[in-house]
Amino acid sequence: MVSVMWFRRDLRLEDNIALFNALRHSNEILCVFHINPEQVTEKSTVNQSAFFASVLYFKNKLKKQGINLNIMYGDINDCFASLKQKLPDWHDIFFNFDERGFGRNRDQKSVAFFEDKLKVKAHPYIDYNLHGATEVKKDSGAGYKVFTPYFKRWIRQEKPAPVSYVIDKRIKSARLLFPENEQLLETFIDDRFSFIKKDLGSETAKKVLNRFINESLDQYDEERDFPANDSTSHLSRYLRTGEISIRTVWRAIDQSPDSDGKSTFMKELCWRDFYNMIYVMYPNQNVESVNKDFRHVDWINNEQQFEAWRTGQTGFPIVDAAMRQLNATGWMHNRLRMIVASFLTKDLLIDWRWGEAYFHNKLLDYDAASNIGGWQWAASTGTDSVPYFRIFNPTLQSKKFDSNGLFIKKYVPELKNVDNKMIHEPGKLSESEQTRFNVRIGQNYPFPIVDHSYARKRAISIYESSKDVN
Ligand code: FAD
Repeated sequence: MVSVMWFRRDLRLEDNIALFNALRHSNEILCVFHINPEQVTEKSTVNQSAFFASVLYFKNKLKKQGINLNIMYGDINDCFASLKQKLPDWHDIFFNFDERGFGRNRDQKSVAFFEDKLKVKAHPYIDYNLHGATEVKKDSGAGYKVFTPYFKRWIRQEKPAPVSYVIDKRIKSARLLFPENEQLLETFIDDRFSFIKKDLGSETAKKVLNRFINESLDQYDEERDFPANDSTSHLSRYLRTGEISIRTVWRAIDQSPDSDGKSTFMKELCWRDFYNMIYVMYPNQNVESVNKDFRHVDWINNEQQFEAWRTGQTGFPIVDAAMRQLNATGWMHNRLRMIVASFLTKDLLIDWRWGEAYFHNKLLDYDAASNIGGWQWAASTGTDSVPYFRIFNPTLQSKKFDSNGLFIKKYVPELKNVDNKMIHEPGKLSESEQTRFNVRIGQNYPFPIVDHSYARKRAISIYESSKDVN
């Protein structure tokens, strides 16, 4: 019996639920990866290039183990119909189901197509999250909208264990049916982003996990908010591609000695499931604010200010350092994501969807549910968000979380000679201080593009009047 294993955001052999089940049920397994031409039009995004770099790495790794990953390109139904023609004795397909967004629609339609038209049995599994979107419910059966009660229930529920795997001739003997697509992945990888090709694959992901557990987990609760310490796990990009499974991460953390760091980290992992669940509950949240009160915020959407934010030229050093970190590495520290998202939506009153779209293109770890969830949290438009009147002061955030300016100096070299205590507000440096610190505000580093205390009042007023519209 020949089965197809359809890989997507699960680029690994080990602890892969769909593959585990395919191996239990099949005599031969054909591995495929499908590329939808409609999804790969924006060639130059970091997000897309990084994902394809991981697929290519996975494909090459499999090849070394004697396994072919067949790359299919084109309309999804045409591709699988062609596969059926080439492989008539194929009767089952295994894959890890996408619970939300574009992927959910694709998977629902694909299941119908496989079963009705190709007479192939579909075997979809939940693999991407510890608990799928419908697994954590209130006693009444309703879903949660607020994180804390969700977390209290989530942490009590038993977590799924990793599944074993043995690679044998059933998967190794599989054929190469689309040789014409063998070089295709390379064309979707933009070489300008050299950082995307570094540190790929499951082996690296496991090293990253182990290093984090050995060096940072115990202190995670105290250290995680300080970007200069760089003490978070950096697992997000591997969880996004599936180069490591969430069950493997959970098991390793769970087996570590108890500490406040460990408890805090487990809670962070819960946010990932929470936002996945919220996206399923609010399928329009990618285009619409979840909170009805804030569906008609009178955004200013100044394009010049957006450009200054995007390029790290706002005159707020912590915002600029954060945006430059994103542009240079494809990753941004969580505290900084909160600061820049608050700054864009509240200080500049730019629509959160602009920021979400920018992150979408730039993040190595882009995950629609977490990104939209994070943006709606910061913009106060989500289910369980920061209240609209609690607005981050970027200068105070900078003083608190980068007190010595070490992170700022790494990404904003114009300010590298500025005194550590004065670096948070370079717009206030006197002429003589500027000379002493070798910086010219307004020339090689900008004045602040907005006055925070004015902007704060303006945002509260605009948010309040948005409520009146409803
Ligand atoms: P760690 O602190 O080591 O956390 C471990 C893991 O827990 C992360 O890898 C992630 O899977 C999960 N996690 C932690 N915090 C969150 C959170 N707030 N929401 C959801 N999951 C979380 N995360 C993404 O994975 N993809 C995104 O596209 C994304 N966009 C974001 C946008 C905004 C505006 C904000 C405020 C947050 C966003 N996050 C996103 C969440 C968080 O910033 C990243 O998961 C984290 O910075 C990744 O670094 P890390 O792996 O070192 O995190």
